[in-house]
Amino acid sequence: MPDVQQIALITGANKGIGFEIARQLGAKDIIVLVGARDQVRGDEAAQKLRSEGIEARALHLDVTDQAMIEAAAAFIEETYGKLDILVNNAGISLPAGRVPPSELDVEVLKQTYETNVFGVFAVTRTMLPLLRRSEAGRIVNLSSSVGSLALQSDPTSIYGQMPPLLAYSSSKTAINAITVFFAKELRQTSIKVNAISPGYVATDLNDHSGFLTPQQGAALPVTYATLPADGPTGGFFESDSTIPW
Ligand code: NAP
Repeated sequence: MPDVQQIALITGANKGIGFEIARQLGAKDIIVLVGARDQVRGDEAAQKLRSEGIEARALHLDVTDQAMIEAAAAFIEETYGKLDILVNNAGISLPAGRVPPSELDVEVLKQTYETNVFGVFAVTRTMLPLLRRSEAGRIVNLSSSVGSLALQSDPTSIYGQMPPLLAYSSSKTAINAITVFFAKELRQTSIKVNAISPGYVATDLNDHSGFLTPQQGAALPVTYATLPADGPTGGFFESDSTIPW
C-alpha cells in the first residue's frame, strides 16, 4: 500500500463486525471514519477507538439517506481530499424477514433492500470520485455465503438445506452483483472491489448465534481492504477460498 496516510470509511461501524474492521484498520495506522446512523453511538465508538490510540472520527451516516451520504462525501473531500478504503458493512436482517418467500411481506423485502442493496449502491456511487483520487482505492462489500445462488440451489450443500430466507439472502446476492459490475467498470483503474463473507459471527444481527468473534469476522474484510496492487478484484471470498456465485 502507498506510504501516504490512508483514509478509510466503514459504514455501520458503531458495533459488531464494522467496529472491529475499524479497530483493525486503525491499528494499521489508517485514519478510520466510523460511519454510524446514530450520532451518539458513533461518537461513543470513535471515542473508544481513540482511547486505544487509533485515529478515529465518527461520521453521521445513514446509508438509506442520500443527503446524508452526500454530506459525508463533502466532509471527506474538504477534510482529506480523497478516500482510500470504503467498507460497505452496514446491514440488517429483519426478524420479519426470517420467513419463507410465500409468507414474506413485500414491505419487509423493500426495507431490507433499502439498507443492504440500495444503501451499498448509493454510498459506493457517491464515494467513487473520492476513491478515484486514491493511489490504491479498495472497496469491500460485506456479503454472505447465504447470498450464493449456486449454494442455495444445491440441495446437497448446507445452504441448500437451510430455510429459504429470501429477504436477507437475496439482498446479499444483489450486493454480489453490485460488486461484479463496479469491478468491471473499474477494471482499468487501481480500484479493487470485492465481496467478502465474514463467516458466521456472533453479533446482534443473528442474536449472537454465530461461532466466530467479531475480531475473527473482521480479519478477511481488513485483508481485502488493504490488498496489494496485484490482488484480485470482482471476487467473492470467504476464509481462504472463493465462493461460487
Ligand atoms: P450488527 O452487529 O447488527 O451491525 C450492523 C451495523 O449496521 C450496525 O452498526 C447498525 O447500526 C448498522 N446499520 C444498520 N442499518 C444502517 C443504516 N441504514 N445506515 C447505517 N448503518 C446501519 O451486524 P454485523 O453482524 O456486525 O453485520 C455487519 C455486516 O456483516 C452486515 O452487512 C451483515 O449482513 C454482514 N454479515 C454478517 C454475518 C454474521 O454472521 N454476523 C455473516 C455474513 C455477513 P445500529 O447500531 O444503529 O443498528
